[in-house]
Amino acid sequence: MRPEPALLRAPLPERPEIHQIVLPTPWDVGPVQVYLIEQEPLTLVDTGVRTPESRAALAGALDALGYGLEDVRRVLLTHFHGDHLGQAATLRRAAPGLEVWCHEDDADMCETFSAARDENIEGTDRLFRDFGVPAELRARQRALREGFAKQDPLCDPSPIDRRLRDGETVPFKDFSLQVIHAPGHTAGHCLYHEPGSGALLTGDHLMGNAVPYTDNYLVDAPPDPADPLRRPARFRGLPLYLEGLRALRRQRFRMLLPAHGGVMERPARAIDDALLFYEVRIQRTRRALRGRAAARGWASAWELWEELFPKADPVTQMRTRMYMVIGALDLLEQQGLVETRWAADGSLEHRPRA
Ligand SMILES: [Zn+2]
Repeated sequence: MRPEPALLRAPLPERPEIHQIVLPTPWDVGPVQVYLIEQEPLTLVDTGVRTPESRAALAGALDALGYGLEDVRRVLLTHFHGDHLGQAATLRRAAPGLEVWCHEDDADMCETFSAARDENIEGTDRLFRDFGVPAELRARQRALREGFAKQDPLCDPSPIDRRLRDGETVPFKDFSLQVIHAPGHTAGHCLYHEPGSGALLTGDHLMGNAVPYTDNYLVDAPPDPADPLRRPARFRGLPLYLEGLRALRRQRFRMLLPAHGGVMERPARAIDDALLFYEVRIQRTRRALRGRAAARGWASAWELWEELFPKADPVTQMRTRMYMVIGALDLLEQQGLVETRWAADGSLEHRPRA
């Protein structure tokens, strides 16, 4: 039996060429929403995971609109994660000549994607060591990640035909989309804006059912010479993410079309909610640090994690929450509210600035 096409036609009447297609994933994130832009060239924004179910759902929705997989001419990616990039290579094979476009900062990940690269076991281990995660827990974290790295990531790498930058235009016959670089969830996450209708395709930057985690990873570059601690160079997702949200808040949009959680008809409210979500967590981190510092002087990010998430599993629920704590410390440090030093054991520790 053919699966029901999960298709929401023209959610925004002002721009009826944009359709939402809901594709299943076997992951906790739930289904992913991709968008068909029914204009020349026929374009898909994000692609879903590479599973038979996802492919059938995509084919079914395209069929309901009068197209086949082979008719798609261009794929625009919001970022490199598997539920977005997953079927880009499948589409390329179905439609020779199809182009895949993505922000330049996520393009290498798209081209070299693999489960092992996605898990980044060594880099993540080094990051957690720097932020005070005990060796025994890091070993368990490694074992978990090694298991994930052996599983099928449901995503194939794809060549990127065009590397986009902030402010660029993605042309169609009758209108164009503007690229808004919005790093945080990934370094090259981008949004696509159609100014005429006020439609904003938000990927995972703003979602209807969650707020994204923001990434943190060591980058292959020398430490910042301005950093007296000479810490390894690192992507700091949370400050960038919040900066991006504030910039969006200064614009007017009519509707947000996210990759998860329906459509959002109150853009300003959605942005405020995401800002508040992190503001609450940053303040909690600050309070936990004050409490720790009053008792002991300095605290590691890991000690704050334990205090903030007493019920979370320290292996399976560790990573993204740790990114939150690290991100909050990055932000507080940027604001001059926290100071950091290397402890005797070679990890970083923090205290509120007096
Ligand atoms: Zn994502």
